[in-house]
Amino acid sequence: MDYIVMDLEWNQNPYGKDHIHSDITFEIIEIGAVKVNEDREIEDRYQQIIKPRIFKKLHYKIKEITQFTPEELNKGKDFRRAIVEFLEWCGDDYIFCTWGSMDLAELQKNMKHYGMERILDFPLFYIDLQKMFSLRYDDGHIKRTLSHAVEYLNIEETIPFHRALSDAYYTARVMKEMDFEKYKDRLSIDTFYSPRIKEEEVFVRFDTYTKYISREFLSKEEMFEEKDVSEMRCNICDKMLKPKLKWFSDGGRMYYCLGECEEHGYVRGKIKIKKVDDEAFFVIKIMKSTDEEGANSIYEKQDAIREKRRERRQKMLDHEIVIDEIWDEENNDDED
Ligand SMILES: [Zn+2]
Repeated sequence: MDYIVMDLEWNQNPYGKDHIHSDITFEIIEIGAVKVNEDREIEDRYQQIIKPRIFKKLHYKIKEITQFTPEELNKGKDFRRAIVEFLEWCGDDYIFCTWGSMDLAELQKNMKHYGMERILDFPLFYIDLQKMFSLRYDDGHIKRTLSHAVEYLNIEETIPFHRALSDAYYTARVMKEMDFEKYKDRLSIDTFYSPRIKEEEVFVRFDTYTKYISREFLSKEEMFEEKDVSEMRCNICDKMLKPKLKWFSDGGRMYYCLGECEEHGYVRGKIKIKKVDDEAFFVIKIMKSTDEEGANSIYEKQDAIREKRRERRQKMLDHEIVIDEIWDEENNDDED
C-alpha cells in the first residue's frame, strides 16, 4: 500500500466573507502530493495548478502566502480534469495522509460543487499527521503548524513552505522522522459524507476507544431509540457497562456518559451531533477507557453544566422581574 501525502492550496473570496455567493468557501487552486512507500520513502511526486472559476482574483492574504501570479493560475488545469488525473496517479491501493483534517473536507466539497459526488472510498480512512505529531510530542490535542513540526524535528528547510508540493514534501519528511510505526493504526475517519443507511454505519475499535458513526436522524428521540447510540458498552470487551452517569446533554451538540466495566474499569462516552442540514443530523459516538481522574472530570462536567443552566434560569427570571417592573412603571405612567 502507498501513502499519498497530500496538500492543497486554496483561494477564498477576495471581497470578504460577506460576499459569499457559492457553496464553496475555499476554492482549490493547487494540488500537491508525494507517493510514499511502506518504508516511508518518497517514490513519486504530483503537482497541478488549477484554474480558478469561482474566485478569479486572489485574496490578498493567499497571494502573500502562496506567491501565485495571475498568469500561473490562468494556465492551470480544469478542476474536474485535474481530479481525474490526480486520482489515477494515486493508484488502486493507497491511503491519504494530510496535515490536519481540512484538506480532505475541502477536496470533497470542491468535488461536490463540480458534480463529483461520493467518488472517494467510503468510509474514508486517512492518516492525520498533525494529530499523530500531537499524540507523539504533545497532548494529542494541540494542533501545531507544519513549519513548527519541521523545525522541531530538525528537518532541513530546503524549499519555501506554503505551496502544495513543498508542504506535501515536508509532511512526508515529518512522517519519516517521527516514530510513525507506533501511531500508524490511529487512523482518522473523514465525515464529509455520513452513512445513509444502517448498513453503511461505521464502527471501529481502536486501542483505547471505539468510534461509531451513525446514519442520519431527524430527532433526538429517533437517535436514542437506536441501540448503537444509546447503549453504554465497554470499548475493550463490548460488555454492557454499569451506568454511573447516564447520557446527559451540555445543552448544545454534545452528550456525555460514564460507566464501569467489571473487568476494564471506567469508560466514558461522548456523542457529538453533526448537522447535515436544517433537519437531519448524524452522530459520532466515542467510548473511551478512563481512570478515576477521568471519571471525576465527567461528574465535574455535569455539575458545571447544571450550574450554568441554573445561572441561565436565574438570569432569565431576573430579566422577567425587570421587565415586569418596567411594565408596572409604564402602567403607572399611564394611570397618571
Ligand atoms: Zn470491558
